Amino acid sequence: MDTIQIAQDIHNSDANGKNLNWHPENIQKYAPLRRKIEDFKEKFGKTPNVILKSYLDDYLHSKNLTDFFKSEGKPFYTQKINSFTWACISPKIDKNKLRYPQHSISSQCPQLYILIDENGIEFGFDYGSHVHNEDIRVQSLKSHKQFLNYLLELTRNIQGLEVYENIKPNNQYDRMDLRSPTDLKEKWSKDIRILHIFPKSNIPSNLDEQLKTSLDNLLFVFIFSSLIDEWTPEKISEYLILKGENAFTSISWGTGEVKKSISYKKFEKEQEMRDEEARVLSNEELFEKAKLAIGTPVFRMTIQQIRERNSNVSEYAKRRAKGKCQLCNLSAPFNNKFGSPYLETHHIDWLSKDGLDIVENTVALCPNCHKKMHILDLPQDREVLKAISPHIM
Ligand SMILES: [Zn+2]
Ligand SMILES: [Zn+2]
Repeated sequence: MDTIQIAQDIHNSDANGKNLNWHPENIQKYAPLRRKIEDFKEKFGKTPNVILKSYLDDYLHSKNLTDFFKSEGKPFYTQKINSFTWACISPKIDKNKLRYPQHSISSQCPQLYILIDENGIEFGFDYGSHVHNEDIRVQSLKSHKQFLNYLLELTRNIQGLEVYENIKPNNQYDRMDLRSPTDLKEKWSKDIRILHIFPKSNIPSNLDEQLKTSLDNLLFVFIFSSLIDEWTPEKISEYLILKGENAFTSISWGTGEVKKSISYKKFEKEQEMRDEEARVLSNEELFEKAKLAIGTPVFRMTIQQIRERNSNVSEYAKRRAKGKCQLCNLSAPFNNKFGSPYLETHHIDWLSKDGLDIVENTVALCPNCHKKMHILDLPQDREVLKAISPHIM
């Protein structure tokens, strides 16, 4: 409220927008306003913009996002007097890669911001003022159906969070009435803002909590749009999982249920445990439980480490086999779509157990024998396979 009062005082005086460097006499004239800010600092320990900035800094820290994002704040009173104070989170990127290296990064990127002026407080997502409509950060979001769905769901589920369009001069904006993702897709532009607005007559007592909920929910929108030119949604999710963050939990990919993101290893373990639980049920119990399955898909975001295999080694192993499984010696069970016998390459010493991706360790097997090697890996079978020597066909 103190901050709103300062904004009000500045608004009521003719100080807004006055440049103090060009008109030194203004420094004298507007000293009372500066004194108000000093009084505020004495009372709360920091100036309003520093309080807002440190709030956002703490937030970035709590989310482990400081590698990629930073915060900044704008005071009421510098060389110029503003009738508002503001702080935002924007991506850490190389200024020189931007269209206008002379302008601030936050004016050319999506941001999460908090603004206090004489009307009250607002916070949310916004594009910087120098972002263009043809910017990839604007354009690519329109084509992401999941993103638009998520956004719409967000505004439906979170009370007070609304999509606005900045169409008027003087930075005023209109609430948009959105009924479908198609609506949003048609209207999506650099002028879109997703905001919580609290007029000064109606500042909630749990503002802190509301602010955090809003930031949490808009974080995905923000990260997604900030890093869209470098990061796919999968990559962002991967990053968040690595950081122990489950921002994707509430996103519906399609119509299925979305559970918490986990690492692939953990997922495999959990699945094995569920399979094991099912195995020990009696036939009656199993039938009862199996009947309860609803059938809609359940999604999980995972990250998985994948080994790249050498295509030449694999192709060589298949050609050397001349269409016959190198374990059971039977012909390949069918031809692939290119008309060649279908065999699978297998590493005798598994790559997952530090085996090497080289011709000496690679054979071509029919699907049955391949599965057998992975389930049983019998010593006598391994010996047969090890005896196959590398040679030119
Ligand atoms: Zn075979
Ligand atoms: Zn294999």
